[in-house]
Amino acid sequence: MKYTPRQLSFAQYLLRRIGFLRQKDIDVYLQHLLKVKGRYHFNPKAKNAFKSWQYSAKACIDALMAEIKLKGSPTEIKTRKLNGKNWTATSLSRYAFCSAAFSIGHSFEPAAATSNEWIEIGECLHQSLRLGVRYNQRNADPDPFYQRGWQNPAITKMLRSKLVHVGHGEKPQLFQNEETGFSGSPDYIFQDRDGAYFVVEEKFIRQDDPMNPTALKLMREELAGTLEAKNQDRYQVWEKLPFYFFESHIIQVLAYLYNLIEYPLSYGYLVYWLYDFKDGEPYVFKAGVKKIKLDEKSSDLYQQYKLKMGKFMQKGVEAFDAALINPKKCAACSFSPFCMQKTRRLDHVWLPYPSDALRLFPSEFPDALRPNLGHQI
Ligand code: SF4
Repeated sequence: MKYTPRQLSFAQYLLRRIGFLRQKDIDVYLQHLLKVKGRYHFNPKAKNAFKSWQYSAKACIDALMAEIKLKGSPTEIKTRKLNGKNWTATSLSRYAFCSAAFSIGHSFEPAAATSNEWIEIGECLHQSLRLGVRYNQRNADPDPFYQRGWQNPAITKMLRSKLVHVGHGEKPQLFQNEETGFSGSPDYIFQDRDGAYFVVEEKFIRQDDPMNPTALKLMREELAGTLEAKNQDRYQVWEKLPFYFFESHIIQVLAYLYNLIEYPLSYGYLVYWLYDFKDGEPYVFKAGVKKIKLDEKSSDLYQQYKLKMGKFMQKGVEAFDAALINPKKCAACSFSPFCMQKTRRLDHVWLPYPSDALRLFPSEFPDALRPNLGHQI
């Protein structure tokens, strides 16, 4: 899984045009971009069956080119009006993720360059594989390959509880709290068998399924008679897969717990569905669940972000620590095409995000790429 030498050279050039200063950042960003956008494509015309699945990094180059186009004409970007002091659970979560992402999300309309395949697939999975669909189709998916995606005692508990609110669909109910300026609609609210109400927020996370060998490996292992033993090893790896729950997602659940007044919420769950691709189709292969309680620790965490976000909304500017930039996180961020902070050149972030800050930087075009560029990249 990699770029061709010409693709790599061109991608590095594009990131220097975007403003990246450090070679290490460029390397990490490009490697992570591959995980986000690189794909195996099936070529039915391949003469050698072992070469039917071919890897392509072209989508990574396309994404960087789209960003160059966007930053080359910042006046064409459609801006958004700020919504006073009102805020949503999603915006607080976004602030906890990154203050630049929060500002960009509030300032610009999404553009073609911001399309993020991860997010689009996540949204598509949200519609077809989400807990609500499962709630209505309990005991479906008899195929153990897919069934294992639902194996989790907390999921079983949710499926046995009473569903009282679904936050997606045509016109989901929007909850508002005039006192705090909050509005939002959680993915689900359930009532458990003891009568307590709880909120559920679900996220789809792209990850490699250890039990999903590539077609290439599968064929080789079948031919060598080692497939069964290898699958047992893979199952062990699958069982031990760790989950790391992001603070920004936990904050989102806390925002519902502290602001929703229509239901007396006692606790919440953050559900991570890990998904991968099989024969080009996304599927969920494991569920991770974190229970979130209303205690002193969670109250401190929530208040800390709420206070900082409030100050930022009031002042319209705050310090930005460029040393904390993580190029892996930036490569997967859907606001990255608009962002100048990821270059580590800015030590502040503004609200609204100033479109005149978006720009490109001069960089020498690699000599090796000059001939037939259009055909070779
Ligand atoms: S690209 Fe990085 S710095 Fe910019 S908004 Fe996203 S996470 Fe924040």
